[in-house]
Amino acid sequence: NLQWKHKNLWKSVWKEVWDKEFIMLEIKNLCAAVENKEILKGVNLNVKPGEVHAIMGRNGSGKSTLANLIAGKNNYPSTSGEIRYKGKNITDSSPEERALNGIFLSFQYPVVIPGVNTTYFLKEALNAKRRNHGEDEINAADFMRLIKGKLKEVDLDETYLKRSVNDGFSGGEKKRNEILQMLILEPELAILDETDSGLDIDALKTIAHGINQYRRNDRAIILITHYQRLLKYTVPDYVHVLMDGQIVKSGGKELALELEEKGYSWLE
Ligand code: ADP
Ligand code: MG
Repeated sequence: NLQWKHKNLWKSVWKEVWDKEFIMLEIKNLCAAVENKEILKGVNLNVKPGEVHAIMGRNGSGKSTLANLIAGKNNYPSTSGEIRYKGKNITDSSPEERALNGIFLSFQYPVVIPGVNTTYFLKEALNAKRRNHGEDEINAADFMRLIKGKLKEVDLDETYLKRSVNDGFSGGEKKRNEILQMLILEPELAILDETDSGLDIDALKTIAHGINQYRRNDRAIILITHYQRLLKYTVPDYVHVLMDGQIVKSGGKELALELEEKGYSWLE
C-alpha cells in the first residue's frame, strides 16, 4: 500500500511538471481597451498541444479581439497581461514573428489582394516559414504537387489557383481558402475566427473535415464561433464562453449543446 502511494505521489508530481512544460499557449490576465472602452477584462486561458478549444460568445463579446491579440494582428492602444507561447513571452512580438513561429489566424473577414496570384501567395508564405526554420525553399513542381493534394481536401478545383487572393471568391470559397492556407502552412497553433459563418451545410462539413484532418497531438486549434453547428462536426475538447470581455464559463463539449439550447443569457 505504501509503495502504491509512493508511486502515485511521483506520478502526480511528474504530471504537474509535464503539464507545465507542455502548455503551448498561456494567456494571463489579458486586458484590452480602446478609448476608455474595456474590450477584454482579464482573460486567462491555457492551451496544450493536441487540444481543440472552442471560444463561443455573442457578437461584440470580444472574441475577435482576443484572436487578434494572440496573433499580434491588431494594436489596441491599451493592453495589459501576458501571452506566452511555447514557453516564451510573445506579448510584444510582431505578427510576422508569431506567424513564422507557428501561430496562424484565419480572418473573420478575409482580405482581397487583387493582382496577387493565389498560388504565388501561398508558395511565398510557405517559403518564408521554411527560410525561418533554416529549411530549403520548396520548388515550383513540389509545391504544385503539395497544393493539388490539399485542394482536394477542401473541395476546391485547380482553376482557383490562377485567381487573385480572395478576389471575387464567394463566402464559401474564402473560408475554404483559409483552411487551405492552414493546411499548407502547417501552423502549430491555428486560430479560426468564425470560419463557419455564412456557410451552407455542405461547405460547413468540408471545412469541419479539413479541420479534423488537421488535428494532431502536437498541434492545437482554437475555434471561435457564435454557433454550435460547426462543433457538431469538429468536436472540441473544451468550450469557453466569452461574455463582456471575460471567460465566464468553461466546460467540455457538452457546454456547446447547453448554449445551443439555452442561449447565453443564463450566464449573465
Ligand atoms: P466579437 O468578435 O466577439 O464579435 P469583437 O472582439 O469584434 O467581438 O469586439 C468586441 C467589442 O469591442 C465590440 O463592441 C467592438 O465594437 C469593440 N471593438 C473591437 N475593436 C475595436 C476597435 N479597434 N476600436 C473600437 N472598438 C472596438
Ligand atoms: Mg468576431
